[in-house]
Amino acid sequence: MKLILLGPPGAGKGTQAVRIEEKFSIVQLSTGDMLRAAVASGSDLGKKAKSIMEEGKLVPDEVIIGMIEQRIANEDCKNGFILDGFPRTSAQAAALDVMLQDLGKSLDAVIEIQVDDSALVKRIAGRFTCAECGEGYNKELKPLKKEGVCDKCGSDKFKFRDDDRAETVAARLKAYHEQTAPLIPYYKEKGVLFSVDGMLEIDEVTKNINNVLKRLTD
Ligand code: AMP
Repeated sequence: MKLILLGPPGAGKGTQAVRIEEKFSIVQLSTGDMLRAAVASGSDLGKKAKSIMEEGKLVPDEVIIGMIEQRIANEDCKNGFILDGFPRTSAQAAALDVMLQDLGKSLDAVIEIQVDDSALVKRIAGRFTCAECGEGYNKELKPLKKEGVCDKCGSDKFKFRDDDRAETVAARLKAYHEQTAPLIPYYKEKGVLFSVDGMLEIDEVTKNINNVLKRLTD
């Protein structure tokens, strides 16, 4: 299965991608995670990306396209993949079409997670993840059951994102509306777009995504 998860920052793409990855045994490819790893490693790419990410802007297309092109050709993508955070521009979508064509593959579905802008700011401002297992939390909306301990793996280490500050969130939303949202009609026209209501409870959203994927695999 080859999927794209599309939606604004804070829509729950990462959370849902992890669940799809576990249920369908396909790999999650998050360009945001790849870039954060590059920043943490201090590589040339990381150095270039750091300030752009902190400003809430998009990293240049050619950098991202090159990164995905390499990753998608890996053995672990053979069974399929979930693209989380890519493509984010029309140029990236066009490059993905060519990449898939060259590999003799095609997209099965683009799942758009719809969330109101007003809810996104609150979601992003309070979020953090377990540094060990990656489980996502939110101070207000999905707090830890026991203070300082991950519900899922018991770790006491957590990560906060540098770009989740209120002033950056506005720029990220602007980038989404201007550069990424035009991909919705693009994929609709190709007949691969499925939209789910991302304002529902996390488990409900998962259920609705699973229903879409079940229909595709039946
Ligand atoms: P994310 O974790 O998907 O929210 O991405 C975090 C940041 O990484 C974004 O705000 C961008 O600065 C950068 N980024 C991630 N994916 C892309 C992409 N496909 N194109 C351009 N920039 C990206």
